[in-house]
Amino acid sequence: MELDVQGRNLLSLLVTRLDKAVPGRPETYIGYKECHVLLGLEQQREKWGESLKSQGLLSLAGWTETNGFPGITGLIVSLSTLEPGKGYFHLFDKDEVNYDWWAEQIRSAKSFDWSPYLAEKFDLVPSDLEVPNREDISISRIIRDTALSYRVKLIHGYKCQLCGIALSMPNGKKYAEVHHIKPLGQPHDGPDVIENMICVCPNHHAQLDYGAIKLLANNVRTKQEHQMSDRFIDYHNESIYRP
Ligand SMILES: [Zn+2]
Repeated sequence: MELDVQGRNLLSLLVTRLDKAVPGRPETYIGYKECHVLLGLEQQREKWGESLKSQGLLSLAGWTETNGFPGITGLIVSLSTLEPGKGYFHLFDKDEVNYDWWAEQIRSAKSFDWSPYLAEKFDLVPSDLEVPNREDISISRIIRDTALSYRVKLIHGYKCQLCGIALSMPNGKKYAEVHHIKPLGQPHDGPDVIENMICVCPNHHAQLDYGAIKLLANNVRTKQEHQMSDRFIDYHNESIYRP
């Protein structure tokens, strides 16, 4: 069974949230409304949960169940009850209050390799989208950043684009950081776009931050799917790098 486009987008969003999610602590999960805001979906029904069903939730939930994959849709909760919809438990033939099983699904989802199923082009909330309140704006900015950084790390297999090293962590996990070549915020005001990002190890990240090294195009490991802009590289060499 193939996962449809909306299901795939929803999965890609949920995967960006797995790092922060603590199994059994739904306040660290994601809300139905937040999924709409971040994916730019319309509210099609009065209840956000109902509205998400027809926009990827049902197809994603059915797909995980059919394939025997972890029930990652349990990561989406109502912010009033801090629980997923009843349908989540019913689909997997579980009792509605089976919290242990639910936490176990999130735990398995965190260690599962979802990378073959993620959307190739995955854009969260266009930056000009009107969102209802301040809280949503700050949340969406953080997620947007996290999603893009995550994509950059995946593209490079967590290898530093300068030295090729991917740091090993417990459980076979890898660690890398993403540096904004033209830094975000004042006074540089660099944009939060993939062309302004470079995947690096912590050592090279520090050297870039402090302007200790120059960025030379032929020393940077590149991948077809992630093109960096010369404009930002020039900015680093001219305004950040201190010979
Ligand atoms: Zn490095």
